[in-house]
Amino acid sequence: MDKIYFDNAASTRAYDEVVTTIGEVMKDNYANPSSIHSMGQSAASYVEEARDLCAAAINAKPSEIVFTSGGTESDNMAIIGYCRKNSSKGRHVITGNIEHPAVLNSFERLKTEGFEVDCAACDGDGIVRAETIKRLMREDTILVSLMHANNEIGTIQPVNEVGALCRQNNTAFHCDAVQSFCKLKIDVSEMNADMLSVSAHKCHGPKGVGFLYVRTGIALEGVIYGGGQEKSMRSGTVNAPLIAGMSRAIEINMREHQKDKELISRMRDHLIYRIKNEIEGASLNGSMEKRLYENANFSFEGVASDKLLYALDINGVCISAGSACSAGTIEPSHVIKALNKDISNASVRFSLSKFNTTDQVDSCVDILKSVLYKLRNK
Ligand code: PLP
Repeated sequence: MDKIYFDNAASTRAYDEVVTTIGEVMKDNYANPSSIHSMGQSAASYVEEARDLCAAAINAKPSEIVFTSGGTESDNMAIIGYCRKNSSKGRHVITGNIEHPAVLNSFERLKTEGFEVDCAACDGDGIVRAETIKRLMREDTILVSLMHANNEIGTIQPVNEVGALCRQNNTAFHCDAVQSFCKLKIDVSEMNADMLSVSAHKCHGPKGVGFLYVRTGIALEGVIYGGGQEKSMRSGTVNAPLIAGMSRAIEINMREHQKDKELISRMRDHLIYRIKNEIEGASLNGSMEKRLYENANFSFEGVASDKLLYALDINGVCISAGSACSAGTIEPSHVIKALNKDISNASVRFSLSKFNTTDQVDSCVDILKSVLYKLRNK
């Protein structure tokens, strides 16, 4: 049975060209990019080309890009690193209640260090409004962290408005753009972002690599100590193969974005249309308008998330419930809870990519209908 993989918000298939590039760099450019001999410099040239491309993709300067091991590390480095370094300016910070655990748990850590954390609640559409953040802002607020697009329900947050508010209040603004990078336009100047997190594996790049944008003049305390690579913000031998692979993925995404967006939105809209029209007791979670074009998250009455997920998997459909990052377990999602939805009903995420087809969407809905019928009539 061919699997239908609709879990692209958890991770994507790497492009073949990405795999080739990684292999080439590992085989032919294996020297340490920090070595000053010619082989080291050859490896470093991949890293610096990638830095230029990552910077161009978000309208930043190459010197403002710090390579990391992915979204989690970028979020930790931004939030913990910024607050520790700037605590003399204030100890109040704000985030949203539907952030990824990489953000929420960084703030949990900061609480133990004496920081006061306010969590802005989203509305029923899964949007954390700028007014809500504004109401929480104080003179001693040193950092606001708000995601660009939510990983579970795909809702797009008002990051430009929040960035502008932060600028007015002289508060640093961090944005977790892990889900939106290469899908929505990101311009760190327009967004007034001081830091922005990206991960490669959500957009057909390799796992275990990403970057943090750090605006010139923003000071962070490093969270990894060692040989002082990446301007001492992220010590450790620079991972040239994965960075080159990420760069290759970005290049392809940038070239093919418009075409991919049209294809994926069409498939996603078809999925939503069929579920809404053919399945009783199904409701879409989160705003339809302010939503990533690859995401559909539905609640289904009368079934539990884990039962639905396993039944779909047995029938060849791979999707998610809750957060993919809570390894193998299905915990009631804090995002669905924040929408005030009944969490005894299944809430599941379908996330599509360019490697999916409309036939797969149709098969998925047919399977879903039959699985739901059986589960509801047990
Ligand atoms: N932030 C968001 C919004 C995510 O969706 C994820 C991964 O699911 C992360 C951060 C963590 O990224 P990584 O898997 O690269 O550590």
